Amino acid sequence: MGKIMIIGAGGVASVAAHKVCQNCAQFEELVLASRTLSKCDAIAASIAEKMSGTTTKVRTVQVDADDVPALTALLQRENPDVVLNLALPYQDLHIMDACLAAGVHYVDTANYEPLDTAKFEYKWQWAYRDRFAKAGLTALLGSGFDPGVTGVFCAYALKHHFDEIHYIDILDCNGGDHGYPFATNFNPEINIREVGANGSYWENGGWVETAPMEIKREYDFAEVGKKDMYLLHHEELESLGIHIPGIRRIRFFMTFGQSYLTHLKCLENVGMTSIEPILFEGREIVPLQFLAAVLPDPSSLGPRTVGKTNIGCIFQGVKDGKEKTYYLYNVCDHQEAYREVGSQAISYTTGVPAMIGAMLVMNGTWRRDGVYNIEEFDPDPFMDALNKWGLPWQESFTPVLVD
Ligand code: NDP
Repeated sequence: MGKIMIIGAGGVASVAAHKVCQNCAQFEELVLASRTLSKCDAIAASIAEKMSGTTTKVRTVQVDADDVPALTALLQRENPDVVLNLALPYQDLHIMDACLAAGVHYVDTANYEPLDTAKFEYKWQWAYRDRFAKAGLTALLGSGFDPGVTGVFCAYALKHHFDEIHYIDILDCNGGDHGYPFATNFNPEINIREVGANGSYWENGGWVETAPMEIKREYDFAEVGKKDMYLLHHEELESLGIHIPGIRRIRFFMTFGQSYLTHLKCLENVGMTSIEPILFEGREIVPLQFLAAVLPDPSSLGPRTVGKTNIGCIFQGVKDGKEKTYYLYNVCDHQEAYREVGSQAISYTTGVPAMIGAMLVMNGTWRRDGVYNIEEFDPDPFMDALNKWGLPWQESFTPVLVD
């Protein structure tokens, strides 16, 4: 039994908080800490309604995670066993600093990205490795779905099905429909920064860069059907390229509907996706932040979204001298997720693995002094927990490959 502090009170934090309370045999106490206290209180109220049988004690508190001394003082006062960072990537380093100062283990779902450059990389967080090791603390990076479950899938495939993996294709399909012409399924600013960037994939030890949305394929997804998907740069490519021995190529594809792409192109063309500040009526504003403010809040999409997600990894490699293919994936239904925890499947597929990663660090199953990516841990307890906590996985030994 232990105590967790979740930082952030958005869509992903809400799911993780509900799941923490569902898993009350492990989590005795939950402190929900975020910038806007009313959002923490709304999550606590939903937990009281939906998880009435829980014995987890829930409290809420206001904190600006960018204020390191204030966050450190809060951590020292509350003394949680683990911090689950579900704020935005911009807060990662500040929260890691506070965890080091207060002596608390750290878990997140997205790597650090500076506010003024749309470029996410692990180098900033990997630079904390020695400090976490010296402090005897574990920092687990990327415990969402992608990154997160995708890395666990890779570790599991390598442990149980291959001597060497040569090719990995990560396929992220959202077959859900929220009925809006344009909305993003998670934080709009982070989502649009990711999608608007150049694509790239990892091949023979280096990056191959593409224009945004340059590489398109169609794939027939189990329980969803045929969808167009596009090659994107994605953060787990960087760590998997290092941690999967013998890997020759890793690509990441995400599905997008035509309406989403047409709106995005138009917004880009008029400058609304820019992160360069402009002067508007005497005040500096960032067009993308303004756009995010007028788009539907992702946490409001839950009741309107129908359909399923299908996210997984296709592996090609060798086992006992023979070539082998293997596909591991999860299918998640938006409406079922909404009925259970009041959020759509994108938040659900991130919040459940976030709870699992925090649980494994908290209870000592995954404990290593330093900063580690998720594929560096034993995948088996995580794979079992996925089946138990709402994201059961499926496998195929004869998947259709992506050319
Ligand atoms: P939201 O925008 O819905 O929520 C972010 C929350 O963080 C908000 O409650 C916000 O507070 C809070 N926050 C922002 N800045 C601060 C701060 N300085 N101090 C305290 N709290 C702060 O985002 P999501 O829930 O959609 O995403 C959460 C994280 O999950 C992101 O990092 C995202 O990149 C990641 N993610 C990872 C995925 C994966 O598969 N690995 C998939 C999807 C998301 P306020 O309410 O005041 O704005």
